[in-house]
Amino acid sequence: MQGQLETALDQVLRRNPAELEFHQAVHEVFDSLGPVMRKHPQYADAAVLERICEPERQIIFRVPWVDDAGRVQINRGFRVEFNSALGPYKGGLRFHPSVNLGIVKFLGFEQIFKNSLTGMPIGGGKGGSDFDPRGRSEGEVMRFCQSFMTELYRHLGEYTDVPAGDIGVGGREIGYLFGQYKRITNRYESGVLTGKGVSWGGSLVRTEATGYGTVLFAQEMLRTRGQSFDGQRVVVSGSGNVAIFAIEKAQQLGAHVVACSDSGGYVLDEGGIDLELLKQVKLVERLPVSAYAERRGNGATYVPDWRVWEVGATVALPCATQNELDDHDAKRLIASGVLAVAEGANMPTTPEAVALFQEAGVLFAPGKAANAGGVATSALEMQQNASRDSWSFDYTEDRLAAIMRSIHDRCAATAEEYGQPGNYVAGANITGFLKVADAMLALGII
Ligand code: NDP
Repeated sequence: MQGQLETALDQVLRRNPAELEFHQAVHEVFDSLGPVMRKHPQYADAAVLERICEPERQIIFRVPWVDDAGRVQINRGFRVEFNSALGPYKGGLRFHPSVNLGIVKFLGFEQIFKNSLTGMPIGGGKGGSDFDPRGRSEGEVMRFCQSFMTELYRHLGEYTDVPAGDIGVGGREIGYLFGQYKRITNRYESGVLTGKGVSWGGSLVRTEATGYGTVLFAQEMLRTRGQSFDGQRVVVSGSGNVAIFAIEKAQQLGAHVVACSDSGGYVLDEGGIDLELLKQVKLVERLPVSAYAERRGNGATYVPDWRVWEVGATVALPCATQNELDDHDAKRLIASGVLAVAEGANMPTTPEAVALFQEAGVLFAPGKAANAGGVATSALEMQQNASRDSWSFDYTEDRLAAIMRSIHDRCAATAEEYGQPGNYVAGANITGFLKVADAMLALGII
């Protein structure tokens, strides 16, 4: 890494102690930017690196609520409004006990470049809480969401900041959040949250978009080697929103999906994952994935260990959480003949594992490119809200597919232009960075 990048990285490490995931995300982007800084000295002159690593605004707030037993519970809420050079802050809310400022900053930082890659006019932000919705009643989830929005609403707006879902925040939570926003403001501002239900301002395909988009990106990568999803042995981690719709699209394209997981363990189903059963277990009944194996009745097994990668795959789709696929897993996958890895989750692959995949010539798609279909379709939802229109499933899916192809092609072309053909990590980081950096230059020192 060259001088100005090292200096800027040192500053990030010093000013944000103990935010390890944020450090990792910055490091990963900076690793790609050497040739960019050499070619465009104007970015260093305007301190673009230092400014892009400093959120425009960070909001941390108390979220008090009362549980079913009448006890007062206190959680912590976050919204990091990272960069609005390209448009209003846009990025999901995560409800998970592991959420802290460093996690939200890593996700918000990634979001800047991902949103830039979509080609849509959206800036980067992220938020959430250390609230754990698992095991909570409907009433508890609703009261928590209402309390969370009672503080957050003052920072939101369709021209300011537009959150969506992430881990632990799906259609149910978005409904409660939107309801409270509407109640407090007395305005039906559909464009203030995305991931809404289709009958009240949501977009068709938004639910499916991240998982579908990840597979569509992987398909484009496979195509560069004359391959397709047809007949591939696919392993997916997670069994939430992203994982389930990645499985659905992979199956539609002829893949044989044999395993998926959750935070407790994984299921191996050599007969092929029964998606309707998986949806019933995880999305409807909100049970652990072990219930899938119990009900499947075809010899599918449950392994109480979330290292799903040990079953081997030709295409691997990590769709659960950060740093869930390490060098050990990468070696197992490479030994099993993996051709492509596409990140449905944000930063699920450790830097050591990414390096191993790249050295072995495995096609590797970083999350900021491969999972950008979710936020891109959120931007399509905003377009429909602004024009008070609603598009058909097929039309919206065609738009998503075109966006994923475009992201793929631009990442590939940029990687080539900057002397790293086939390196989608470099391609995504550089393409995403250039657009934001140019906008930051144009907007002056703000
Ligand atoms: P969900 O909450 O719907 O699902 C998350 C899945 O990952 C669940 O199966 C969960 O298990 C599992 N999981 C969560 N934490 C861990 C952990 N520490 N170890 C193992 N498994 C874990 O979230 P999403 O599907 O929405 O999000 C998944 C990933 O995709 C995240 O990285 C998110 O940031 C990213 N992403 C999501 C987008 C979206 O549109 N939703 C857009 C772009 C990226 P369990 O069921 O046991 O909780």
